[in-house]
Amino acid sequence: MIHLKSPDEIEKLRQSNYLAARILKAIVDRVKPGVTTLELDQFAEQQVRAAGATPAFKGYQGFPATLCTSINEEVVHGIPNRTPLRQGDILSVDIGVKLDGYFGDKAITVPVGEVSEEARMLIQTAREALALAIEETREGNRLGDVSSAIQHYAESHGYNVVTKFVGHGIGRVLHEEPQVPNFGRRGTGPRLYPGLVIAIEPMLNCGTGDVEVLKDKWTVVTKDRRLSAHFENTVAITAKGTEILSLYDGF
Ligand code: MG
Repeated sequence: MIHLKSPDEIEKLRQSNYLAARILKAIVDRVKPGVTTLELDQFAEQQVRAAGATPAFKGYQGFPATLCTSINEEVVHGIPNRTPLRQGDILSVDIGVKLDGYFGDKAITVPVGEVSEEARMLIQTAREALALAIEETREGNRLGDVSSAIQHYAESHGYNVVTKFVGHGIGRVLHEEPQVPNFGRRGTGPRLYPGLVIAIEPMLNCGTGDVEVLKDKWTVVTKDRRLSAHFENTVAITAKGTEILSLYDGF
């Protein structure tokens, strides 16, 4: 069952997602060669707690950190560690927070210093796929329109989408219905109504869309070890239209 949110609940989600975006912006500002993802994670946790919130991922099914940090061929769910970031890496950072009972969720992929043209184009296309999906997230459309926008844009630019992991409804629960796949057909799936709040999170791969999980039981990597990028925004359909909740000063 899809739980449609009241305007009061959407206001709570606006605050939790604004916080997620504000902290993610500060994290991204710290990304450069030599920095470790563990340092970014410690900074993130401190910022989340200073805001009176709690990290949403830490302890979730045993996940050990505040951030998911996924580098290069890592798709999602990478665990922060002591390895310094290198010039030319691409880094996906995913943050989840819980504020006043409501979750915020946002992710972005950024270059570490100068990156290859292949990496730059992948990041740009993944970012644009998310923007197009958000344009399709409006009253009267169906969820398949959102999913299809991601798949079509990715594939028409020569990329493949990850099908094994999907976006999700979000509210008092981090992952709730509906699932928001990065693939699908226009005109299919549930209708979109005001009160719907979903986290849309395209994952685009340069090579195959197939993935596998490393021995740490968390890190998802591309099967062919080619690059992957991940962007996520939490979006609400309100009576006044569609609103990106996970925004901080345009970020
Ligand atoms: Mg998510």
